[in-house]
Formats: sequence, structure tokens, C-alpha cells
Amino acid sequence: MRALPSFRMLLVAVAAGGLLAIAGCGGNGGGPTPTATPPPPTPTASTRTSSPTVAAAPTTVVTPTPSPTTAPATPTATPCPSYTLVPQVGALGANIAAAASRWNSWLGCPVFAVGTSGIPVDFAPAEIGDVGWGQYAGGQIYLMPPSTPPADDPSTPYANDFERLTCVVMHALGHVLGYADGSAAAPKIMRPLDWPTWPPTSCSTPDSP
Ligand SMILES: [Zn+2]
Repeated sequence: MRALPSFRMLLVAVAAGGLLAIAGCGGNGGGPTPTATPPPPTPTASTRTSSPTVAAAPTTVVTPTPSPTTAPATPTATPCPSYTLVPQVGALGANIAAAASRWNSWLGCPVFAVGTSGIPVDFAPAEIGDVGWGQYAGGQIYLMPPSTPPADDPSTPYANDFERLTCVVMHALGHVLGYADGSAAAPKIMRPLDWPTWPPTSCSTPDSP
């Protein structure tokens, strides 16, 4: 009977070992704790140390653009005096306007205009005396009295001849501009002796018949 207890002890031992084995193989936290995965290495900036080679820009030859030759020249600004003529006799208006227009065209600027305030233009009254063919004094223009006959036609008062009267007005306007009688530097209308007849029978410009 000795063997029986031994056998029972063996069974108990085996059973206990099995329990131990089962306990030893339990999956409740017995394994190794997983370690944290290390972060990947931070990339360094070494890849930025070498700059890409920049290709040299091709040299651009700048050809100077020639100035346009068709541009109009800037006109030179010249002072243009301004005078307004005021007819004192209605019939003189047309002669004054014509004389002013001829001077303006010849001078290239609007020197003379006809208006209601400015330089009075009138025939000289008897008490004025000799005013020549056209006098400018004291801010007033006096013309030879209309009954005065031209030298080449004593029978016809010059004031009845529109062109001759206009030429006399042009002569007077020359005095307004500062030209003296007979001045070689003045246009011909200021030199009565240079005309075949006086007052001229035609004076399309201050310097020509
Ligand atoms: Zn004069």
C-alpha cells in the first residue's frame, strides 16, 4: 500500500504543476512593456547649403530709340501785346476791323481787337490841328479829318475810299505799336514817302500794297 500514497502525491504534484504552469502562462501583464518608438530623426538643413546655380541672364543690348522727327517743334512763346480799339464813328468800325486783322496776320498774334473799352479811334476834330494821317497820343487815335483829299486826287476825300481809310488806320495802329514815322526799321505803312501815292490805294499787309 505504500505505492498508493506515492501515486496520489505524484498526481497532486502533477496537478499542482499544471496549475503553476497555467498560472505562469497567464497573459495578464506578464510580458515585457513595449518601449516607445523613438521619433524619426529630424531632417537637417544640410540640403539647403548648396544654392542652385543661377544661369547668367543674357546681356541685353539696348539700342537707343531715335527721336521721332515728325514731332512738331514747340512754338516759341513770344509776348503778344493786346490793344482793344473802340470806334467813335460807326462808319469807322469796318475799317478798324480790317486794319486790326491785317496787323494781327502780319504779326502772327492777336494784338488788336475791336471792342467797347480801350483805345478810342476817331477823326481828329478841327481844334486838334495837324495829326498827320494817324496819330496816337494820350491813349487816343486821331485820324486825318475825312475831308482831307489825298495828294494824288484832290477832288476825292480820302475817307470816302474804304481801302485808303483802312491804310490810314493801319498807319495809326503802327504808332500804337511804337513805330515812328519814316522809320527804316518799321514796316512800309509807317513810311508814307515810300509809297507811290499816299494814302496807299492798297495795303494788304503793313509792309506791302
Ligand atoms: Zn504817322
